[in-house]
Amino acid sequence: MSTLEIKDLHVQVNTEDGPKEILKGVTLTIKDGETHAIMGPNGSGKSTLAYSVAGHPRYEITKGTVLLDGEDVLGMTVDERARAGLFLAMQYPVEVPGVSVANFLRTAKTAIDGEAPKLRTWVKDVNGVMERMNLDASFSQRSVNEGFSGGEKKRHEIAQLDLLDPKVAILDETDSGLDIDALKVVADGVNEFRKRENKGVLLITHYTRILRYIKPDFVHVFVAGRVADEGGPELADELEANGYDKYVKAAAV
Ligand code: ADP
Ligand code: MG
Ligand code: MG
Repeated sequence: MSTLEIKDLHVQVNTEDGPKEILKGVTLTIKDGETHAIMGPNGSGKSTLAYSVAGHPRYEITKGTVLLDGEDVLGMTVDERARAGLFLAMQYPVEVPGVSVANFLRTAKTAIDGEAPKLRTWVKDVNGVMERMNLDASFSQRSVNEGFSGGEKKRHEIAQLDLLDPKVAILDETDSGLDIDALKVVADGVNEFRKRENKGVLLITHYTRILRYIKPDFVHVFVAGRVADEGGPELADELEANGYDKYVKAAAV
Protein backbone atom coordinates (compact mmCIF):
# COMPACT_ATOMS: atom_id res chain seq x y z
CA MET A 1 0.00 0.00 0.00
CA SER A 2 1.08 3.60 -0.44
CA THR A 3 -1.39 6.35 0.17
CA LEU A 4 -0.37 9.91 0.92
CA GLU A 5 -3.12 11.98 2.49
CA ILE A 6 -2.68 15.70 2.88
CA LYS A 7 -5.54 17.24 4.84
CA ASP A 8 -6.26 20.93 5.33
CA LEU A 9 -2.57 21.79 5.42
CA HIS A 10 -1.70 25.31 6.53
CA VAL A 11 1.94 26.37 6.39
CA GLN A 12 3.70 29.59 7.26
CA VAL A 13 7.24 30.91 7.03
CA ASN A 14 8.87 33.57 9.14
CA THR A 15 9.83 36.60 7.13
CA GLU A 16 11.36 39.93 8.14
CA ASP A 17 7.81 41.30 8.32
CA GLY A 18 6.67 38.49 10.58
CA PRO A 19 4.97 35.18 9.85
CA LYS A 20 3.44 34.76 6.41
CA GLU A 21 0.88 32.09 5.62
CA ILE A 22 1.71 30.40 2.31
CA LEU A 23 -0.45 27.29 2.26
CA LYS A 24 -4.02 28.07 3.20
CA GLY A 25 -5.67 24.70 3.57
CA VAL A 26 -4.48 22.12 1.05
CA THR A 27 -6.25 18.77 0.80
CA LEU A 28 -4.97 16.13 -1.57
CA THR A 29 -4.90 12.32 -1.56
CA ILE A 30 -2.58 10.23 -3.70
CA LYS A 31 -3.52 6.59 -3.77
CA ASP A 32 -1.72 3.47 -4.91
CA GLY A 33 -0.59 3.65 -8.48
CA GLU A 34 -1.79 7.19 -9.07
CA THR A 35 0.11 10.07 -10.61
CA HIS A 36 -1.08 13.54 -9.67
CA ALA A 37 0.11 16.74 -11.26
CA ILE A 38 0.10 20.00 -9.35
CA MET A 39 0.18 22.92 -11.73
CA GLY A 40 0.23 26.57 -10.91
CA PRO A 41 1.83 29.92 -11.48
CA ASN A 42 5.12 30.94 -9.86
CA GLY A 43 4.78 31.78 -6.20
CA SER A 44 1.57 29.81 -5.70
CA GLY A 45 3.15 27.62 -3.02
CA LYS A 46 3.95 24.46 -4.96
CA SER A 47 7.50 24.11 -3.63
CA THR A 48 6.27 25.01 -0.16
CA LEU A 49 3.93 22.03 -0.30
CA ALA A 50 6.78 19.74 -1.38
CA TYR A 51 9.15 21.03 1.32
CA SER A 52 6.49 20.86 4.00
CA VAL A 53 5.71 17.22 3.28
CA ALA A 54 9.43 16.44 3.16
CA GLY A 55 10.05 18.19 6.50
CA HIS A 56 12.11 21.26 5.66
CA PRO A 57 12.61 23.19 8.93
CA ARG A 58 11.80 26.59 7.36
CA TYR A 59 8.18 25.69 6.92
CA GLU A 60 5.97 25.72 9.98
CA ILE A 61 2.82 23.63 9.89
CA THR A 62 0.12 25.56 11.71
CA LYS A 63 -2.79 23.27 10.93
CA GLY A 64 -3.63 20.05 9.12
CA THR A 65 -2.28 16.54 8.79
CA VAL A 66 -0.14 14.49 6.42
CA LEU A 67 -0.47 10.72 6.58
CA LEU A 68 1.49 8.06 4.70
CA ASP A 69 -0.36 4.76 4.91
CA GLY A 70 -2.05 6.11 8.01
CA GLU A 71 1.22 7.11 9.73
CA ASP A 72 1.64 10.70 10.89
CA VAL A 73 4.32 12.13 8.62
CA LEU A 74 4.49 15.53 10.33
CA GLY A 75 5.66 13.87 13.55
CA MET A 76 8.60 12.24 11.75
CA THR A 77 12.14 13.55 11.29
CA VAL A 78 13.34 14.07 7.73
CA ASP A 79 15.22 10.74 7.88
CA GLU A 80 12.17 8.93 9.19
CA ARG A 81 10.12 10.32 6.31
CA ALA A 82 12.62 8.93 3.83
CA ARG A 83 12.65 5.55 5.56
CA ALA A 84 8.85 5.55 5.59
CA GLY A 85 8.96 5.80 1.80
CA LEU A 86 8.79 9.48 0.88
CA PHE A 87 11.08 10.90 -1.76
CA LEU A 88 11.51 14.53 -2.75
CA ALA A 89 13.29 15.69 -5.86
CA MET A 90 13.88 19.37 -5.22
CA GLN A 91 13.46 22.24 -7.65
CA TYR A 92 16.92 23.48 -6.65
CA PRO A 93 18.96 20.50 -5.45
CA VAL A 94 21.84 21.27 -3.10
CA GLU A 95 25.51 20.74 -3.86
CA VAL A 96 27.44 18.33 -1.68
CA PRO A 97 31.11 19.00 -2.38
CA GLY A 98 33.45 16.12 -1.61
CA VAL A 99 30.74 13.48 -1.69
CA SER A 100 30.68 11.44 -4.87
CA VAL A 101 27.46 10.40 -6.56
CA ALA A 102 28.39 6.73 -5.99
CA ASN A 103 28.93 7.22 -2.25
CA PHE A 104 25.90 9.41 -1.88
CA LEU A 105 23.61 6.86 -3.52
CA ARG A 106 24.99 3.96 -1.52
CA THR A 107 24.79 5.85 1.78
CA ALA A 108 21.22 6.94 1.07
CA LYS A 109 20.21 3.41 0.07
CA THR A 110 21.80 1.96 3.22
CA ALA A 111 20.09 4.53 5.45
CA ILE A 112 16.69 3.93 3.90
CA ASP A 113 16.83 0.12 3.82
CA GLY A 114 18.55 -0.20 7.19
CA GLU A 115 21.29 -2.36 5.63
CA ALA A 116 23.89 -1.94 2.91
CA PRO A 117 22.84 -3.17 -0.52
CA LYS A 118 24.67 -6.28 -1.78
CA LEU A 119 27.65 -5.01 -3.72
CA ARG A 120 27.27 -7.13 -6.80
CA THR A 121 23.61 -6.30 -7.53
CA TRP A 122 24.11 -2.71 -6.40
CA VAL A 123 26.90 -2.02 -8.89
CA LYS A 124 24.77 -3.58 -11.61
CA ASP A 125 21.74 -1.49 -10.60
CA VAL A 126 23.75 1.73 -10.48
CA ASN A 127 25.38 1.11 -13.84
CA GLY A 128 22.02 0.21 -15.33
CA VAL A 129 20.28 3.37 -14.24
CA MET A 130 23.23 5.57 -15.21
CA GLU A 131 23.04 4.11 -18.67
CA ARG A 132 19.29 4.60 -18.92
CA MET A 133 19.71 8.19 -17.73
CA ASN A 134 22.35 8.75 -20.37
CA LEU A 135 24.97 9.60 -17.76
CA ASP A 136 28.58 8.72 -18.42
CA ALA A 137 30.19 6.10 -16.14
CA SER A 138 32.55 8.77 -14.78
CA PHE A 139 29.53 10.70 -13.52
CA SER A 140 29.46 8.46 -10.41
CA GLN A 141 32.79 9.90 -9.27
CA ARG A 142 31.72 13.53 -9.43
CA SER A 143 30.65 15.49 -6.35
CA VAL A 144 26.89 15.59 -5.91
CA ASN A 145 25.37 18.44 -7.92
CA GLU A 146 28.67 20.36 -8.01
CA GLY A 147 28.91 21.93 -11.44
CA PHE A 148 26.11 19.71 -12.73
CA SER A 149 24.15 21.11 -15.63
CA GLY A 150 20.40 21.49 -15.13
CA GLY A 151 19.84 18.29 -17.05
CA GLU A 152 22.46 16.35 -15.06
CA LYS A 153 20.84 17.42 -11.79
CA LYS A 154 17.45 16.17 -12.89
CA ARG A 155 18.78 12.94 -14.34
CA HIS A 156 20.72 12.31 -11.13
CA GLU A 157 17.49 12.75 -9.18
CA ILE A 158 15.67 10.24 -11.32
CA ALA A 159 18.58 7.83 -10.77
CA GLN A 160 18.01 8.30 -7.03
CA LEU A 161 14.30 7.68 -7.48
CA ASP A 162 15.02 4.45 -9.34
CA LEU A 163 17.53 3.13 -6.80
CA LEU A 164 15.93 4.30 -3.57
CA ASP A 165 12.54 2.98 -4.70
CA PRO A 166 10.26 5.05 -2.42
CA LYS A 167 6.52 4.56 -2.04
CA VAL A 168 5.63 8.12 -2.97
CA ALA A 169 7.76 10.43 -5.07
CA ILE A 170 7.33 14.19 -5.04
CA LEU A 171 9.00 15.71 -8.07
CA ASP A 172 9.28 19.49 -7.96
CA GLU A 173 9.77 21.08 -11.39
CA THR A 174 11.67 18.07 -12.64
CA ASP A 175 11.13 19.45 -16.13
CA SER A 176 12.59 22.91 -15.61
CA GLY A 177 15.68 23.69 -17.64
CA LEU A 178 15.59 20.46 -19.64
CA ASP A 179 16.04 20.26 -23.38
CA ILE A 180 13.72 17.90 -25.19
CA ASP A 181 16.11 14.91 -25.13
CA ALA A 182 16.78 15.22 -21.41
CA LEU A 183 13.07 15.70 -20.79
CA LYS A 184 12.31 12.41 -22.54
CA VAL A 185 15.00 10.57 -20.56
CA VAL A 186 13.65 11.97 -17.30
CA ALA A 187 10.05 11.21 -18.27
CA ASP A 188 11.00 7.63 -19.21
CA GLY A 189 12.60 7.23 -15.79
CA VAL A 190 9.48 8.47 -14.02
CA ASN A 191 7.26 6.27 -16.19
CA GLU A 192 9.41 3.21 -15.37
CA PHE A 193 9.00 4.00 -11.69
CA ARG A 194 5.22 4.30 -12.10
CA LYS A 195 5.06 0.80 -13.55
CA ARG A 196 6.24 -0.67 -10.27
CA GLU A 197 3.68 -1.97 -7.83
CA ASN A 198 1.84 0.52 -5.58
CA LYS A 199 3.76 3.70 -6.36
CA GLY A 200 2.41 7.20 -6.01
CA VAL A 201 3.76 10.23 -7.85
CA LEU A 202 3.16 13.91 -7.17
CA LEU A 203 4.48 15.83 -10.14
CA ILE A 204 4.79 19.55 -9.55
CA THR A 205 5.13 21.70 -12.61
CA HIS A 206 4.63 25.18 -13.94
CA TYR A 207 4.50 24.13 -17.60
CA THR A 208 2.29 21.55 -19.29
CA ARG A 209 5.11 20.28 -21.52
CA ILE A 210 6.22 17.38 -19.30
CA LEU A 211 2.62 16.16 -19.07
CA ARG A 212 2.80 15.15 -22.72
CA TYR A 213 5.34 12.53 -21.67
CA ILE A 214 4.09 11.72 -18.19
CA LYS A 215 0.32 11.38 -18.33
CA PRO A 216 -1.16 12.24 -14.94
CA ASP A 217 -4.30 10.55 -13.65
CA PHE A 218 -5.35 13.73 -11.86
CA VAL A 219 -4.51 17.40 -12.22
CA HIS A 220 -4.77 19.99 -9.45
CA VAL A 221 -4.53 23.69 -10.14
CA PHE A 222 -2.68 25.50 -7.40
CA VAL A 223 -3.17 29.23 -6.88
CA ALA A 224 -2.33 31.41 -3.88
CA GLY A 225 -1.73 28.49 -1.53
CA ARG A 226 -4.92 26.65 -2.35
CA VAL A 227 -6.20 24.06 -4.78
CA ALA A 228 -8.32 26.17 -7.13
CA ASP A 229 -9.49 23.41 -9.44
CA GLU A 230 -9.14 19.68 -9.98
CA GLY A 231 -9.79 17.28 -12.78
CA GLY A 232 -8.42 14.59 -15.04
CA PRO A 233 -5.66 14.90 -17.64
CA GLU A 234 -7.93 17.04 -19.83
CA LEU A 235 -7.47 19.86 -17.33
CA ALA A 236 -3.79 20.03 -18.31
CA ASP A 237 -4.82 20.55 -21.94
CA GLU A 238 -7.17 23.32 -20.90
CA LEU A 239 -4.38 25.00 -18.93
CA GLU A 240 -2.06 24.69 -21.88
CA ALA A 241 -4.62 26.51 -24.01
CA ASN A 242 -5.83 29.12 -21.54
CA GLY A 243 -3.15 29.49 -18.86
CA TYR A 244 -3.80 30.29 -15.21
CA ASP A 245 -5.43 33.70 -15.75
CA LYS A 246 -8.98 32.90 -14.77
CA TYR A 247 -7.83 31.19 -11.58
CA VAL A 248 -5.47 33.99 -10.65
CA LYS A 249 -8.25 36.56 -11.17
CA ALA A 250 -10.72 34.53 -9.13
CA ALA A 251 -8.19 34.16 -6.30
CA ALA A 252 -7.51 37.91 -6.27
CA VAL A 253 -11.18 38.78 -5.61
P1 ADP B 1 6.12 28.05 -6.24
O1 ADP B 1 6.95 26.82 -6.00
O2 ADP B 1 4.71 27.74 -6.60
O3 ADP B 1 6.74 28.97 -7.23
P2 ADP B 1 6.89 28.74 -3.54
O4 ADP B 1 6.35 27.68 -2.65
O5 ADP B 1 8.32 28.69 -3.88
O6 ADP B 1 6.01 28.83 -4.86
O7 ADP B 1 6.59 30.15 -2.87
C1 ADP B 1 5.28 30.56 -2.50
C2 ADP B 1 5.31 31.92 -1.83
O8 ADP B 1 5.92 31.80 -0.57
C3 ADP B 1 6.10 32.95 -2.59
O9 ADP B 1 5.48 34.20 -2.43
C4 ADP B 1 7.45 32.92 -1.89
O10 ADP B 1 8.10 34.17 -1.99
C5 ADP B 1 7.06 32.61 -0.47
N1 ADP B 1 8.10 31.85 0.22
C6 ADP B 1 8.43 30.57 0.00
N2 ADP B 1 9.42 30.15 0.80
C7 ADP B 1 9.73 31.23 1.56
C8 ADP B 1 10.67 31.49 2.60
N3 ADP B 1 11.48 30.50 3.01
N4 ADP B 1 10.69 32.71 3.13
C9 ADP B 1 9.86 33.68 2.71
N5 ADP B 1 8.95 33.52 1.76
C10 ADP B 1 8.87 32.32 1.19
MG1 MG C 1 8.69 28.95 -8.38
MG1 MG D 1 8.58 26.07 -6.90
